[in-house]
Amino acid sequence: MSVNGQQDLLELMDGGAAPTAPSIVFQRSAKARNYRLTLRRDGTAVATIPQRGSQRGAEEFVTQQAEWLERARARQARKPRAAEVWVPGTHVLWRGEMHEIRVASTGERPQVCLNADVFRVSGFDGNLRPTLEAHFARRAKIELPARAWELAAVTGVEVKQVSVRNQRSRWGSCSANGTISLNWRLVQTPDFVRDYIVYHELMHLREMNHSTRFWARVEEVCPGWREAERWLKRNGSLLGL
Ligand SMILES: [Zn+2]
Repeated sequence: MSVNGQQDLLELMDGGAAPTAPSIVFQRSAKARNYRLTLRRDGTAVATIPQRGSQRGAEEFVTQQAEWLERARARQARKPRAAEVWVPGTHVLWRGEMHEIRVASTGERPQVCLNADVFRVSGFDGNLRPTLEAHFARRAKIELPARAWELAAVTGVEVKQVSVRNQRSRWGSCSANGTISLNWRLVQTPDFVRDYIVYHELMHLREMNHSTRFWARVEEVCPGWREAERWLKRNGSLLGL
């Protein structure tokens, strides 16, 4: 969570998400040793009850943590968020920058554009977000694997498969058998951020951990990785991450 999210992007944002009603979900965990309270991205607080704990114990714990929860909620509320409903005039993140959705053509083939890219829509009434996000995901399925194969060749890492997925909590992942999965929302981020995620996953095929050795490998192939991490921390919430 980044507290100092006063970015240019934040100022350009319009609308913003409606505040979610504070709610707390209690869940038991066989593995947990202590009571725990976490705040999900959707605004739900989750109280974990350890094996030997009780509902009442968890409720007491939540009461004790009330101040922390309030601060965490405030921090979350300050993060930049994409508008829920997209209409012509809404600014959305596209290829690393906020662009206004503009009407490109009306009539039988209605289209909107974001900067230089044009997208077919069914009309201008209602929410354009599902349609545009489907377009983004389709482009991602073409562009992201192509880039991943390119960087795999550059770094000499052997990759078996690249898949593009709708991941809600991560930018990429990989498995020991050589598969790399990338979040389609990476087409909305700047190129250097997308490349960093690809490099990150590629280097995991060499080091399946986040050890200093892993980061040294990342540094070698992608010296700008810190800046990319910073970008993701500040702006990831615009993409729901
Ligand atoms: Zn990693």
